[in-house]
Amino acid sequence: MGRVFVAGSINMDVVAMADRHPKVGETVAGRQVHYFPGGKGANQAVAAAKLGAPSTLIGRLGMDVFGQQLRQFLTAQGVELALVKDTPDVHTGTAVITIADADNTIVVVPGANARVSADDVAVPLLAKGDVAVSQFEIPQPTIIAFFKRARAAGATTILNPAPATLCGPELLDLVDILILNETELGLLAQTELHDTDEPARFVEAARRLPAGPDRIICVTLGKRGVLALVGDEPSLIAGRAVKAVDTTGAGDCFVGALAAQLANGKAIRDALEYANAAASICVQRMGAAPSMPTAAEVASVLQ
Ligand code: ATP
Repeated sequence: MGRVFVAGSINMDVVAMADRHPKVGETVAGRQVHYFPGGKGANQAVAAAKLGAPSTLIGRLGMDVFGQQLRQFLTAQGVELALVKDTPDVHTGTAVITIADADNTIVVVPGANARVSADDVAVPLLAKGDVAVSQFEIPQPTIIAFFKRARAAGATTILNPAPATLCGPELLDLVDILILNETELGLLAQTELHDTDEPARFVEAARRLPAGPDRIICVTLGKRGVLALVGDEPSLIAGRAVKAVDTTGAGDCFVGALAAQLANGKAIRDALEYANAAASICVQRMGAAPSMPTAAEVASVLQ
């Protein structure tokens, strides 16, 4: 079995719940505060680990209380942290979220995540059969260095270009599997897309992305499921009918689950079905990292 290596962000999400959002210059009393482990890198590494894949996270934490708490949490989830560096003079990545009237405001301060460097990802451990995963909450030159290393080792590369950010062909050319939602696809393909669009619109947009003949593109479509272009052949895997309570982290669950299945030697079509089922479990629970399912839970819905 291969390993999953995730180079990415690790955040503490500080969530304040209030009856209404404050106006500029105003203070309002909140009802509750929650601390949720987050960051796309951490979420994806947790998803892969809980599904039984050996999962190594590459990233950075500040030397503060959030850093210590995140290290404890990720260790308890089975994520290997030997390549996560404690970094002096910078705080742990933090997202400050206010929720009122079912609307949220979010300020993300990258902190230590912005320091993840090409040296950090010079991983001598990567080998054929491994899966290298990254997203856009760490610097793009670091991701390029990571994927070059992975390619040289014969590992599969997965890019989840989220949050939506432009990138050049130097990075896209190093990607074996691109996993993105309609906003990210719209930005990279330079076209306007809406989540209600017909699948043919997404296929057309995906075909505009620079890609080699073997590139696999997966467009996640929320409750509609996922549209996959494998060898330019489009197929729609329908979303599973579930009652969603919180879709935060669904995309990260999908990415981590797909990576875990590929590291386990599964074929891409089976891995896509599996990831779609795993993400459908994630949306039925609150939070991101804490809502990732176990292998037994996914097996029970796939029966
Ligand atoms: P987020 O940023 O919240 O993590 P995303 O936009 O990256 O989400 P989505 O496309 O919303 O990702 O969801 C990813 C996958 O999760 C979908 O492709 C699907 O497999 C599953 N999923 C999401 N929402 C639902 C739902 N309501 N019911 C069933 N499955 C869902």
